[in-house]
Amino acid sequence: MSSNIFFIAIGRLNAQNHFTKTVLEGVPEPKYKPYLDSDIHGQVPIWGVEGQSRSRTFWEQIEPGDYLLAYTGIHPMRDSPEKSIEYAAKIRGTEESLEFSKNWWGEYRGRAGRGSDDRGPWPLLIILNEPFEVSIPHTELRDIAGFSEKWNPQNFTSYSGSSKIRQQYGSIENYLDSKKVTPEVASSSELAEGNDSSSGVAEESETNSVSETTVDIETLREAAKQDETESVTPTIRQQETREYDRSPKIRDYIKKRSGGYCEGCGEPAPFESKTGEPYLHAHHVDELSRGGSDTIDSLVALCPNCHYRVHHGKDGEEYNEQLRERAWELEHDA
Ligand SMILES: [Zn+2]
Repeated sequence: MSSNIFFIAIGRLNAQNHFTKTVLEGVPEPKYKPYLDSDIHGQVPIWGVEGQSRSRTFWEQIEPGDYLLAYTGIHPMRDSPEKSIEYAAKIRGTEESLEFSKNWWGEYRGRAGRGSDDRGPWPLLIILNEPFEVSIPHTELRDIAGFSEKWNPQNFTSYSGSSKIRQQYGSIENYLDSKKVTPEVASSSELAEGNDSSSGVAEESETNSVSETTVDIETLREAAKQDETESVTPTIRQQETREYDRSPKIRDYIKKRSGGYCEGCGEPAPFESKTGEPYLHAHHVDELSRGGSDTIDSLVALCPNCHYRVHHGKDGEEYNEQLRERAWELEHDA
C-alpha cells in the first residue's frame, strides 16, 4: 500500500522520442523476450535508466506497485510554464539488461560515444503497466514535498513527497486518479438546468426506494426527519457482514441535499450510477455498528475517495471529525 513516486524527465527531444517509442507504444515481445526474465507478454511499456551510480541508487529503491511520473520541461533552468507531469504509469518491476538496451535503443542513442564500450546507455529497466495521462503542475508536487522554488527534477530520481501524498489522499493511486485527464467533462449547464437535480447516494446495502426526482427538498427533509432514530440495532446476516435498518427516506434527502457534489471535498460525483444519478455514498459520521444515530445531521454524501479516506485513510478519524462538523453545519447553520 505504501507505494512511492519516481520521476523521469522527458523534456529533451531524444527523451521524448524514447518515451513515445518505448512507453506509449510499448516494446514488442520479440524485442525483449530474449533478454528479460520477467513473466510479461505482448507489447510492454519499458523505460531505461542510465547505469551510473546516482541513478542506480534510486533505481534499486523501486518496488512493484510504485509509480513512474514523466516530467516535461524544455528549459530546465528556466521556470517555464509548460513544466508539468503529463504521464504516469504503475511499475510492474525492474530488470537490468545491457544487451536489451544495446539492441533496442542502439539506433536512438543521441548521446552515444559518451559511455564506454562496456556500458550501455540505459541498462536499468523499469517495466510498466499502461501509462495514463495526468495533468499535474510541477509546483503542486514541489509544494506538497515542501521543496524550494528552485526544485526541478531533471533526470531519473525519487520523489520525497510520496508519504505526504499518501497522508493527504490515502494512496498514490487515489491521488493520481484525481489527476487523470478525462477526455469528456460534463457541462455544468446540465446541472444548472435542473431537469434532474437529484443525486444518487449509493449504499453498501441495497434498499428499494422510489425515485424522488420530483419531490422537493423540504418534503424529503420532513419525511426524513420523521424517520430519524437515535440508535439503530444491527442485524447479523453473516459472520462478517452486518446490515442496518437505515431509512431510505433519510438517504433520499441526503441525495437531494448534496446536489451531486461530495460533501467532503466539494468535487462533483466522479461518475453517474447505472440509473444515471451522480454516484455518491451516504456516510454516517457515527458508526452504526457502535449504535450510532441515523439522523440527517449525522450523514454526509461522499465521493468514493472521501469515503475510503474515512475508513482506510491514515487521517480517517480526524477527517471524520471534520465531516461531523460539516454535517451539523449543513442542518443547523443554514
Ligand atoms: Zn470527496
